[in-house]
Amino acid sequence: MNTYQKLTSLIGNTPLYELETSVPSSNARILAKLEMMSVGGSVKDRLGFYIIEQALKTRKLHQGGTVIEPTAGNTAIGLALAAIHFKVHAIFVIPQGFSQEKQTLARALGATIVNTPKELGMKGAVAKARELVQEIEGAYNPNQFHTEWNAEAYYYSLAREIYEGTEGKLDVFVAGAGTSGTFMGVAKYLKEQNPSIKTVIVEPQGSIINGGKSGSHETEGIGMEFFPPFFDKALYDEAYTISDKAAFARVAQLAKEEGLLVGSSSGAVFEACCQIADQTDKPLTIVTIFPDSGERYLSKNIYGGDRNHA
Ligand code: PMP
Repeated sequence: MNTYQKLTSLIGNTPLYELETSVPSSNARILAKLEMMSVGGSVKDRLGFYIIEQALKTRKLHQGGTVIEPTAGNTAIGLALAAIHFKVHAIFVIPQGFSQEKQTLARALGATIVNTPKELGMKGAVAKARELVQEIEGAYNPNQFHTEWNAEAYYYSLAREIYEGTEGKLDVFVAGAGTSGTFMGVAKYLKEQNPSIKTVIVEPQGSIINGGKSGSHETEGIGMEFFPPFFDKALYDEAYTISDKAAFARVAQLAKEEGLLVGSSSGAVFEACCQIADQTDKPLTIVTIFPDSGERYLSKNIYGGDRNHA
C-alpha cells in the first residue's frame, strides 16, 4: 500500500514541472515548482511548519500555547495547518479590506481572525499583534519579516528538492520576493552547491529591490517595502522588475496554454523566465517557483474580463 501518514507528509515535495510554452525560439527549458500542490495550497506551508516546529524546540512556544502573526496571506494558512498538527492555537491579525479567501480558509482551519482598521494598514495589525501577545498567556509572535527561520525553512526543504530534482543540473534560479525568505533560503543553498548557478530575484513595480519607490501593485504576494535582516544582496545576480500587466498576461497564458491556474506572483516569475530564455540561444535550464493557485484570487477577478487580453 502506498499511503501517506501525518499532515507533514503532505507538505512540500511538490512536482517540478516542465512548462511546454517556453519561448519558441529559445533552447531554454523552464521548470516550475508547483507549490499549489502542497496541502495548504502554497509555498508558505513549509514556513508554517518550520516556524512552529522551531518555536516549540526552542521553547518560545509550548503545546496548548498560541501563535499570533499579523499576516493577510498564505502564511496564515500555512501556520493554521501547522497549528493543528502541533496542537497550538493560531490568531491572525489582518487589516480590513484584505482578500477574503485566505481569511475564510484560515478560519476553516480553526484559526481566530482579528481584523484591525483599514486606515491603520499593516502597521496597525503589527501593533495589535504585539498587544495580544502581552495579553494572552503562552502567546508567541514569530514575525516572518524578522525571524531567520523564514529563509531557513526553504533552505532545508525547497532548495534541496530543487537541487535533487534537477540532479544539480540547473543554470538559472528565478523567484519572487515578498518577505524574500523563499528566494534567500533557496539561493543560499544553490550557491553553496554550485556558485555558477545564476540567481534572479523578481519584484513587481512598486517594490524597492531595484531602487524603486514602494507603492501599490496588483501582483499579490511579492513586492518589498523594506529589507528584512535575512535579505542578502550577495545572493542574487540580477533583479527583474515586472509590471502588473505583464504578470497578469502570463497568468492568462499559463491557464489557457498550460492548464495551470496560478496566482499573479507566478505570472511575474514566469515573465522573468521568458525574458531570460529570450536573451539566449544557449541551452539553459531555468528553475522557478510558482507559489500558489489562482483560485485564491477569484474574488479579485484574476482570470476575468479584460485581463485575459492584457
Ligand atoms: N507569492 C505569493 C503568492 C506569496 O504569498 C508569497 C509570500 N508573501 C510570495 C510569493 C513570496 O514569498 P516570500 O515572502 O518568501 O518572499
